[in-house]
Amino acid sequence: MQLSERIRKLPKYLFAEIDEMKKIRKDVIDLGVGDPDIPTPRHIVEAMKKAVEDPKNHRYPSYEGSIEFRTAVSEFYERRGVKLDPESEIIALIGSKEGIAHLPLAYVNLGDYVIVPDPGYPVYNAGTILADGIPYKIPLRKENGFLPNLDEIPSEIAKKSKIMFLNYPNNPTSAVAEREFIKSAIDFCIDNKIILAHDFAYGEITFDGYRAKSFLEFENAFEVCIEFNSLSKTFNMTGWRIGFAVGSSEIIKGLLKVKTNVDSGVFQAIQEAGITALRSDVSVIRDICKIYEERRDVLVEGLRDVGLSVEKPKATFYVWCEVPEGYTSVEFTKKLLEVGVLVTPGVGFGDFGEGFVRFSLTKDVETVREAVERIGKLDLQP
Ligand SMILES: *Cc1c(COP(=O)(O)O)cnc(C)c1O
Repeated sequence: MQLSERIRKLPKYLFAEIDEMKKIRKDVIDLGVGDPDIPTPRHIVEAMKKAVEDPKNHRYPSYEGSIEFRTAVSEFYERRGVKLDPESEIIALIGSKEGIAHLPLAYVNLGDYVIVPDPGYPVYNAGTILADGIPYKIPLRKENGFLPNLDEIPSEIAKKSKIMFLNYPNNPTSAVAEREFIKSAIDFCIDNKIILAHDFAYGEITFDGYRAKSFLEFENAFEVCIEFNSLSKTFNMTGWRIGFAVGSSEIIKGLLKVKTNVDSGVFQAIQEAGITALRSDVSVIRDICKIYEERRDVLVEGLRDVGLSVEKPKATFYVWCEVPEGYTSVEFTKKLLEVGVLVTPGVGFGDFGEGFVRFSLTKDVETVREAVERIGKLDLQP
């Protein structure tokens, strides 16, 4: 059977060779995946146990999420001063990846453009291609703090673009966005009638007292913005598959049109556990961030000690590290594998990820320390 053009247009998986190398060593420290190692907090698991016993949760859920779940989301956003109408400005998702991948199906026609950051979370690109759209890659460069320069987007492209994806705090660069940039992105999308799809998956994973900004905190954002959010990273719930989107009621309605035709919502018991998660005391998230913060310090200081160039991130559980002179990101990844440390080569997130590798802080601090010691034993002269 011939696969569809769409599927054949998806980027190939680049790392078969690295996967092979990984299998050779038994003691590999995997700092490649972005999946929290810490279990879901106890009170959330307990809420799930109770909810799963209740037969009323065994039936089809509502497409858009229960009003109780959406109300809990609105309360969660109210902490940051954002007022949301649970009826029309919030939708539950089967993980935010699901919503991100489905949004282009609601708004993109054959040949329309979608503006996609490079490097970036691969789903923006894949979701665009699956909707017969054309990804228009905008580079995130170090010299610009890994923010795109929106003035570089040709006006013919902007006119034919339906969606722009942005993601701050950012995966994989761990960069954050400040007021001025966020306002300019909203203005750009209003001027060009583009949906601004902001991926806020790491909105709560912040350090040193830094607070990440929701795009919905800004004036006029509700005209063009849909913000994707998730319980995955905030509450160590990646396996549970629950996220949500908030923002413009019109865009939420568009996404719901796709979803009612392809899925039947989030398991009601998981939504109940999600309500418990969202209503957690602020100390729950603070404790999770503290753990990453300690690991970050050990990793960043260790990498600097061996002469590597890294910024100390204010947010996310990633450290985006420049590869030393004379290596590509794949070559440097293989070099690190010689001492059993696995990272993700930057080029896996797009061409402009070349020159960097991504370390995930998803191993305990002793293991991070051991990774640093192993890297210290390498001769990094190419
Ligand atoms: C982890 C992640 C998500 C969240 O995915 P879920 O489907 O909610 O688990 C979304 N965007 C980015 C950039 C991520 O890294």
